[in-house]
Amino acid sequence: MKVAIIGLDSVPPELLFGGLLDSLPNIRKMTSKGIYGKLRTCDPPITVPAWMVMFTGKNPGKLGIYGFRHRKAGSYTDGYIVNSTHVKEPTVWDVLGENRHRSVVIGMPPGYPPVRMKDGAMVSCFLTPSQERPFTYPPELKDEILGLCGGKYDFDVVFRTEDRAALKKNLFEMTERRFDVAEHLARTQRWDFFALHEIGFDRLHHAFWKFFDPTHPKYVKGNEYEDVLGAYYSMADGRIGRLLEIFGEDCISFVLSDHGSKGMQGAFCVNEWLANEGYLVYARQPNAVTEVEKAEVDWSKTKAWGWGGYYARIFFNVKGREPNGLIDPSDLEAEKNKLRERIDSLTDNKGRRMRNQVLEPTTHYGQARGDRPDLMVYFDDLNWRSAGTVGHGSLYLSENDTGPDDSVHSMDGVFAMLNPRKDLMGRQLVGARIEDIAPTLMKLYGLKMPGDIDGKVLPEVVEGGLR
Ligand SMILES: [Zn+2]
Repeated sequence: MKVAIIGLDSVPPELLFGGLLDSLPNIRKMTSKGIYGKLRTCDPPITVPAWMVMFTGKNPGKLGIYGFRHRKAGSYTDGYIVNSTHVKEPTVWDVLGENRHRSVVIGMPPGYPPVRMKDGAMVSCFLTPSQERPFTYPPELKDEILGLCGGKYDFDVVFRTEDRAALKKNLFEMTERRFDVAEHLARTQRWDFFALHEIGFDRLHHAFWKFFDPTHPKYVKGNEYEDVLGAYYSMADGRIGRLLEIFGEDCISFVLSDHGSKGMQGAFCVNEWLANEGYLVYARQPNAVTEVEKAEVDWSKTKAWGWGGYYARIFFNVKGREPNGLIDPSDLEAEKNKLRERIDSLTDNKGRRMRNQVLEPTTHYGQARGDRPDLMVYFDDLNWRSAGTVGHGSLYLSENDTGPDDSVHSMDGVFAMLNPRKDLMGRQLVGARIEDIAPTLMKLYGLKMPGDIDGKVLPEVVEGGLR
C-alpha cells in the first residue's frame, strides 16, 4: 500500500473545482475518475495548526496550537513562533514508522526544526529561518537537495510587498523547485507514505487575489496581473500530473488543502474598538500607528486587549495570571459573556451588522492546552481580518495593517483522491472534515491513530482506496 498527499496551502474549492478546473487537466482527472469534495477545516482556519490537525486527527485545543504565534503565558508583550517541537501528539508518519512503513515528508508545517523520523526522510517547512540551518532529516539529505537546486532552496517568499513583479518570479521559482525536490525524493527514496506541502498557493492568494477576482473591492479590469493566479495554478497542475505519474499505479494519491481563501473586505481594529469600549486604557493616547505591544498602555486599568491576524485573539487581564491583573478569576466567565454580546452586535463600515463568531477555546474544543487565548473572534465570517495595531483613529481599514494583503482565509479547503486502479466516477464527498484525514489514512494501512482523536474514518474513501 502506497499513499501520497499533495498539500496545497489555502486552496479553496471555488477555484480548484470551479472557475479554474477546465484549465487543470490533472485535477480534472481526479474529479472525474476519483472522489472529491470540500474539506472543512478546523477552528481557527490557520495553516499552523491546520496541517497538524490533518495529520494527528486531533483538534487545536488538544494540540495546544492556535496559530503561528502564541502569547508567552502571562506576558502583555512577548510571544513566540510555534515550531515542530510544540507538536506533542503522534502524527501519521510517527505511527507508520512504528509499524515499519517508511515516510517521506516535505515542508509540512510546523516542520522546523526537522523532526527525527523513526523511519523516513523529512525536509523542513516554510518556517525555516534560512537554508544555512539544518533543514532535513537525515541531516546529510540537505546537501543532496541543495545540489539538486543549484545551491538555493527557498522555503518561502516575502509576500507582503508592493513589488508584485519580483514576487511573481520568486513564487514560480520556489514552487517549481519544491516540485523538483518532490519528484527527486519520490523517485530516489523508498517510501510507503509521501507527503508534500506547498506554501506558494497561500502567498499567491494573499498577494494576487485583488488582481483576478472581479468581486474584490480593489479589482481593476484588465490589470497587468490578472492572469497570474490562473498561470500559477496551471503550472502547478502540470507538476501535479508529473508527480502522479511518478507515484505510479500502486499509489493512492490525494490533493488536499488546509483551508480556503477569499477576498478581504477590510481590517477591523480590535484594539481601537476595545479602547473605545473602555476595555483597553492608554497611559498616553497613541499619536501614530503602532503595535499595541509598543503603545503606552496602562495595564493596571486595562481589562482586555487583542491580537491581529485572520482571526482575533482576545486576552483578559486576570488577577494572579497577568502581572497587573484586574479581573477576579471568578468574574472571568461573566466578563467573557459580556464582551461576547458586544462583539455580536458590531457593525461594519457601512453600518451593516457583521456576522461575527466568538469561540471560547475550552468550551469549543473540550480541552484547550497550551497558551490559549481567552476568546477567538471571526469578524463577519472572516471577511474582515483583525488589525491589532493602534493609533488609526478608526475602527475600519481598507488595507491590512501589516503589509499588502488582499485575501483572508475561509472554512472550506479541498479534498481530491485518485486510485489509478479503480474508476470512482468523480463521486462527491460530503461532510469530510480535516481531522478525518489521519484516521482514514491509517485505515488504508489497516492501522489506527492512537489516543483520543476527534476525526472519524471516511468509509467511502477507504472503500475507494482498497483494491
Ligand atoms: Zn494555510
